[in-house]
Amino acid sequence: MFLTITTTGTPERPATDLGFLLHKHPDKAQAFSTSHGRAHVLYPEAGAERCTAALLLEVDTVALARRGKGKGRGGAPDAALAQYVNDRPYAASSLLAVALRSVFSSAMRGVCHARPELPAQTRPLRVEVPALPARGGPDLVRRLFEPLGWTVTAEPVALDTEFPQWGDSRYVRLVLRSEAVTVAEALRHLYVLLPVLDDAKHYWVSADEVDKLLRAGEGWLPGHPEQKLITSRYLSRRWSLTREAMERLELVRLAESDDSEVEELDNAVAAETGTEEKPTPLAVQRRDAIVAALKESGAARVLDLGCGQGQLVQALLKDVRFTEIVGVDVSVRALTIAARRLKLDRMGERQANRVGLLQGSLVYTDNRLKGYDAAVLSEVIEHLDLPRLPALEYAVFGAARPRTVLVTTPNAEYNVRWETLPAGHTRHGDHRFEWTREQFRAWAGTVAERHGYQVEFRPIGPDDPEVGPPTQMAVLTLSGGNDKKEAKAA
Ligand code: SAH
Repeated sequence: MFLTITTTGTPERPATDLGFLLHKHPDKAQAFSTSHGRAHVLYPEAGAERCTAALLLEVDTVALARRGKGKGRGGAPDAALAQYVNDRPYAASSLLAVALRSVFSSAMRGVCHARPELPAQTRPLRVEVPALPARGGPDLVRRLFEPLGWTVTAEPVALDTEFPQWGDSRYVRLVLRSEAVTVAEALRHLYVLLPVLDDAKHYWVSADEVDKLLRAGEGWLPGHPEQKLITSRYLSRRWSLTREAMERLELVRLAESDDSEVEELDNAVAAETGTEEKPTPLAVQRRDAIVAALKESGAARVLDLGCGQGQLVQALLKDVRFTEIVGVDVSVRALTIAARRLKLDRMGERQANRVGLLQGSLVYTDNRLKGYDAAVLSEVIEHLDLPRLPALEYAVFGAARPRTVLVTTPNAEYNVRWETLPAGHTRHGDHRFEWTREQFRAWAGTVAERHGYQVEFRPIGPDDPEVGPPTQMAVLTLSGGNDKKEAKAA
């Protein structure tokens, strides 16, 4: 399996600079042993005008089979033979991506001690991968590479040129061209997207894959329109890992850009791809609905229970009518990230007096949570085991007793509308349950009755006539005075 990278140049900026960028001298052919075979780097042409580097990987199928990791896909009945006879030696798969990383690791990080100015410069690049397994076909190949600034040619490879009637194989010949991408970026795009297109990772995905993905995806994966597909395929559809990566990516995106930049990016992508403006993400719609309901309630002092990484706290801080905002979460990691997001350590005194972050668990009564106007439980209840829910109910509605409580949770009926969600899956690996509209109404109704609240339900997101909205919200308001006994008697 192999891949070539070509650049062109001028006498002032010779194409052979590619050798510096890749840390491989154009005059030498070099070989490296990698975990799956021998990788060779050679330059079929190396002149000032044009220079091509080729990476060729000789896969050791016997060694792969011995390690039990080179099996055919999906436990095919001929798996015994497929260990030895498969597309591994020819197809540019995740093995090539691993070789890319081990042979060009400095280049991928954009390091060049000899010529420090080079890595940041863009130059005309052409990348060719003659046989790329592409699940999703040429169309997906374009959707993955075009947003990154590449002009994409992805030609299906015929199953057998002698028998065109057999149709196309699942391989494409890929050619990428760009003048806007640096060599380091190109390598990082390939490192992530080759296995994404192959979609059959050869080794077990371990937890540090998330780190590898985020490192290689730095600067381009946050905000990529296919971010979700890339992440879930790269992590071989392991939902808990995918979710962790998505959360961390979201964080990077938010940390790196304020909202206006994100909007600009969305619009730019929409303009480029000719698609309509991207719909507002559900998380944003949820936040907007919560802020609107809080304003309506007239609340000034607000608790965000299970605040996670502090997005809602941040949104509430922008509105001066909220005089005190306290985020509570059981996860120290989430709170650390929230503190960083809010820049708590660099906040002026006035702002700092308005905001607080508390570590605590919502299944225990907590005197610190008493006396607030409103509390939000946004996408939190479904993270608790059902038997723990009555404890949360008591801690919030029985003990803390804010005048208004907003509870949001996924509407399980809507799950059939998520294209990327396999049937029967919950939306997140950590969801202990997801309720239908009826189940949520029954729970909130009982809670309201037991603790003297009135309840009203609102949809969040598009309200599908058949299955309802993706997110459901209950607005619970303390009826009459804040008198517990009266409430209990009622
Ligand atoms: N409210 C945020 C985060 C939802 S994720 C949002 O809408 O985006 C659920 C959050 O609940 C996580 O941050 C998790 O740490 C927190 N959580 C789960 N169980 C909890 C408990 N028993 N006490 C406090 N927080 C809890």
